[in-house]
Amino acid sequence: MTEVATRPAMPRESDWSAAAAAIRELAPTGRVLLICHVNPDGDALGSMLGFALGLRRFIEVAGARRRRPGGSAPALQATVPGEFEVPEPFAELPGVDLLVPEDEAYEDPDLVIVFDVAAESRLGALVNRLSLARETIVLDHHASNTGFGSIQLVDPQAAATSVVAEQLLARLDVPLDAAIAECLYVALATDTGSFRFDMTTPGVHEMAARLIATGIRPGEISRRIFDTRPFGAMKLFAEVLARAALDPTAAGGKGMVWTYATLDDLRRHGQRPYVMDALIDPVRTVAEADVAVLVKQVDEAEWAVSLRSKGAVDVSRVALAMGGGGHRLAAGFTGHGTPGDVVVAVREQLDRFLI
Ligand code: AMP
Ligand code: MN
Ligand code: MN
Repeated sequence: MTEVATRPAMPRESDWSAAAAAIRELAPTGRVLLICHVNPDGDALGSMLGFALGLRRFIEVAGARRRRPGGSAPALQATVPGEFEVPEPFAELPGVDLLVPEDEAYEDPDLVIVFDVAAESRLGALVNRLSLARETIVLDHHASNTGFGSIQLVDPQAAATSVVAEQLLARLDVPLDAAIAECLYVALATDTGSFRFDMTTPGVHEMAARLIATGIRPGEISRRIFDTRPFGAMKLFAEVLARAALDPTAAGGKGMVWTYATLDDLRRHGQRPYVMDALIDPVRTVAEADVAVLVKQVDEAEWAVSLRSKGAVDVSRVALAMGGGGHRLAAGFTGHGTPGDVVVAVREQLDRFLI
């Protein structure tokens, strides 16, 4: 058995109906707080905002039926742990008007729904909302999901959390519109590497077809999300890529390529931290290495580490061993010390988890 011991099964029918029942019961009149993971990527924000737009619609319809007092607006918020900064590529996503900073998020929500969060540590200071809510629904697709929350919709076979979000909206009889579809499409395209990775199943393309059928523009969306960055970011990328090192003996001879980016690099090029999210992609193209590592500074001696594998190593096991998580071929953790310290630790773990 090479599977991660914590790997959850697919959601059962009883999980789906429990989630739908909790939403039908609590959302029309209660306070609903949606949360995604810290440093949100396209799946975190896209699945959360797409679901938020659908849920707002659901509440308006259900609330009207239940004669919500005074016809007041739905008590629905979406939030992100940590600093309130929507990365520029996502700043125009439909539904961003529902976002509030974490310190304005309901203190005592009735219902919490979390998106793309594999472990409670990825909720930062908002983790306390889990115990305050009457129900917590977890929508996720990480095999490393730790099983927190009162209702778990965790499907490790789903290519993105937005796959789970679309299914739950369907269970609530919320039809897709272009705004919902744009968010779910961004999430699906992000986590499948623009429909290139192995989990790009017929089901993924069928979902993409449903989303595109609402009238969204995939070319325009992809250019905005993947193919647009400031001039300074390009210069930053050039510098960080120029210092990459190749270690052909790592990972049992399968090879590792790694580089690092510091806060000073960001400052010199006038860039925000999220621009570094795309930096792992050119690093992982290196033919001589199965494993790619990008070490990104977040504080004096604290680093966000991105791991990618072409297939020889289950990097989620490396990440888990280092206190993080993720997927077999894409994972991450928080490292400490210098970039060299972090890479030595990764190298030590790599040989243990060859597939
Ligand atoms: P990234 O390299 O940041 O794009 O992340 C790749 C994958 O690893 C994503 O599925 C993340 O959810 C997961 N991941 C990254 N960092 C962490 C962490 N510190 N703890 C748990 N999972 C992580
Ligand atoms: Mn994510
Ligand atoms: Mn995801």
